[in-house]
Amino acid sequence: MQEQPSVLQKAEEVLRSGIPLCDSCFGRLFGMRGYSLSNSERGRALKTVLMMHAFSYASRRVDPDLLRLLAESGFRPAAEIATRLKIPFETKTCFICEGLTGHFEDIAKRVIEESTEYEYETFQIGVRLARTIVSREEQVWRMFGLSESESLKNEISREVGKLVERLSSKRYASEKPEMLIIINIPETRLESISVELHPSPVFLCGRYLKLVRGLPQSPWLHSDERVLHPTSIEELITAPLIEHFKASGAKLHAAGREDIDARTLGTGRPFVVEIKRPKLRTLDPKKLEEVINQRAQGLIQVHSLRYCGREFIKKCKSLAELAKKSYVVRVKFDRAVSEEELTKLRETLRNVVVDQRTPRRVLHRRPDKLRRKLVYRVEARRISESEVEFFIEAQGGFYVKEFIHGDGGRTKPSIAELLGANVVSIQLDVVNVEEP
Ligand SMILES: [Zn+2]
Repeated sequence: MQEQPSVLQKAEEVLRSGIPLCDSCFGRLFGMRGYSLSNSERGRALKTVLMMHAFSYASRRVDPDLLRLLAESGFRPAAEIATRLKIPFETKTCFICEGLTGHFEDIAKRVIEESTEYEYETFQIGVRLARTIVSREEQVWRMFGLSESESLKNEISREVGKLVERLSSKRYASEKPEMLIIINIPETRLESISVELHPSPVFLCGRYLKLVRGLPQSPWLHSDERVLHPTSIEELITAPLIEHFKASGAKLHAAGREDIDARTLGTGRPFVVEIKRPKLRTLDPKKLEEVINQRAQGLIQVHSLRYCGREFIKKCKSLAELAKKSYVVRVKFDRAVSEEELTKLRETLRNVVVDQRTPRRVLHRRPDKLRRKLVYRVEARRISESEVEFFIEAQGGFYVKEFIHGDGGRTKPSIAELLGANVVSIQLDVVNVEEP
């Protein structure tokens, strides 16, 4: 069995091929060897040992070829001896990086400079390296059958990262960095290099009350004729946040939505706001809450605003389907309703399963399907002969209005059906969304 050539033999083979490599690129070819060494230290160490082979004072042994190649690769001690021994050489630029590895500090400074207006503590660095540079490096690996090399891309992100840490108070984070920094390297010239900044979103959660009817949750419903207020819950909550966080945008994720003409009272509806590309990230939620409430001028109110993680969006969405919700509904019937009828209704509607086909009013945008929802209880209080206020507690995702009027038999049972009366008008308020 043939013995594997040593690192030094390989290094000599690469050097003797005449491919000029700077210390970093030379050391990186053996980047998986040793620990806690930079590639330029590895490269210098190998070049040092090779120089010791090429020249000895004691024995006056000189290998002019090796000395010349070392000097041409930019290794200064070799250049000095070569000059003294009058061995002609000409310093060459590195075949792989063309000097790029000498610019790490400049790149790190530029990263810091360009990100000054962003508040962040942790970061990660990604590198987009031109294909031409990558393929020069891969060509060398293939030529010499190298299998323990590190990539230039890897070295840039690690070394620039270390420098950014040293030159600023920022910390590298392997998970959930507040800032993702992408270094674009289309050419090895420093001037061609650009920095892209991707601040991670900030998430704030809380609960909102919708105090008026005729206000949609999202902006796209503005054309609806039931819209009385030309804004939306999303805009009212996100606009002040976008402004204060100096963000590019924001999105509201709520635990379900109420009808335009329903209010949400009581403890309110849970929501999460995703604030995109924020320049600031540590504002006082209490103050933000005040600004939102003041600007909303009584249309909505938010409370319990606090920072949270992305996972809250999912939680909010599942809350919409699962959480128990309570409603207060004022209903006017086309005839008088007696106390006896209401007592019977209360008893009948305790813990019942209600079958609901997709309501006719949303059939144009949702598929027709059957859902079964649990109604926990229904309380009823007469306001006048034909007017009743119901308190309904039901599972999330329940169509309350349809449960009142029956939707032409698509919701069963329904209050209208059980009473045998027609519904004239409905006023709906959501009063509680339970958080499990
Ligand atoms: Zn190089």
